[in-house]
Amino acid sequence: MLKNVMKVLIVLVVFLLLFYAVEIITGLDAHEIKVLSEPREAGHVGGGGRYKAGDEVELKASPRDGYEFSGWLKGDRLVGEEKMYTFKVEKSKTLRADFQPRRYSVDYRGGGGGEVESRGEPRHGETMSLIAVPADGYVFMGWVENGEEISSEVEYEFTVQGDRSLEATFRPVDDFVGENIKTVVAPAHAGEIKGEAHDISGRKLVLTAHPEFGYRFDHWEAEGEEVSRNRSYTVGTGEEKEVVARFEEGFEKVDGDDLLAPVNKETYLGRYAPPDLKELPEEINARDYTMHLREEALEHLMNMYEEAKEDGVTLQVASAYRCYDTQKTIFNRNAEEHGEEEANRFSARPGQSEHQLGTTVDFGGTEYDFSDEFAKTSQGEWLKENAYRFGFVKSYPEDSEDITGYIYEPWHYRYIGKDRAVELQETEKVLTEFLEAKRR
Ligand SMILES: [Zn+2]
Repeated sequence: MLKNVMKVLIVLVVFLLLFYAVEIITGLDAHEIKVLSEPREAGHVGGGGRYKAGDEVELKASPRDGYEFSGWLKGDRLVGEEKMYTFKVEKSKTLRADFQPRRYSVDYRGGGGGEVESRGEPRHGETMSLIAVPADGYVFMGWVENGEEISSEVEYEFTVQGDRSLEATFRPVDDFVGENIKTVVAPAHAGEIKGEAHDISGRKLVLTAHPEFGYRFDHWEAEGEEVSRNRSYTVGTGEEKEVVARFEEGFEKVDGDDLLAPVNKETYLGRYAPPDLKELPEEINARDYTMHLREEALEHLMNMYEEAKEDGVTLQVASAYRCYDTQKTIFNRNAEEHGEEEANRFSARPGQSEHQLGTTVDFGGTEYDFSDEFAKTSQGEWLKENAYRFGFVKSYPEDSEDITGYIYEPWHYRYIGKDRAVELQETEKVLTEFLEAKRR
């Protein structure tokens, strides 16, 4: 009995040993098929493992949301383009299922009044930004998708996760004046309010108050409260409010002794006369009568004269200090010839001329005196480049009639001191704006 049990056990052990031997021998023949997903989080791969030579292997790639399968790679070589990949095992190898972030359709347009610039690729998970660029005279309103406003930022940034269709909406600046923003001139007819976009975003509007002759700007009111005494007032285009530009009758009296006195159509020098007028040397006087300037201005004018001469340019003055009465005669003569309003575009009323300061000169003595062409004469060109270094600046530059109320006068220069002239040169302001800003 015991013997029989032993026999059975021995048979069993031998059988087991044989079984493992076969396993070990055939195991030597097994090959490993390794499969990877790339990038790892982009999808799932199945079908890898140990196979015997000649076995058929079926690999399967399944992309996760936001990815698409792009192919099976062995090393750098593309070996299959379908998600299912079948082959017969010959030896161990590693295969990579390559996934790419899905490409969506991100569609955008500027809905009239502007354009859209884009940055980034419309691929899943990428950051894209769209930038609204309004055309001149338009402001950006917001981004609209499926009829709904989704953002009012000029630059709209988002993570790509699906198809998008966006429209940048724009509106003419003029729409705001008198609509969202109601502007009121008080008293009526005392002036005018002009509006323009504050910057590229267009979410702000700059209102500027322009008084009529005989009035001066006083302050801005919003919701019945005084909000600013600055000529320009900035409001958000989205706000609905009433803005009042308050003007006062009469002019603002300025002190002529102040080198930086703003002398314009809203201010008044009265019968001011400078205390230290000096006669211009003959060599710089283009006329056959004497002319005068204040001492400091004259000193710098003559320094400028000397330096220009070294450059081969002879500066000549056609008009310098003019007293109140002289200005009155000139203005009345011009008004008679051209009408008052037209005359006031190129000729100041008495008490409103920079020439009354004794710091202002009209260069000339050329065949192009008092015309645009003066800018192209040797004097005109030299002054444009160099005058500020001597403290002289142009009061009425090109394209600034809107601001100054005077036509382009390339011959008319005012002395404001060297430091201030350099400072003005570095801003984009017109002299009168610069001086008004200095005062506040
Ligand atoms: Zn002048």
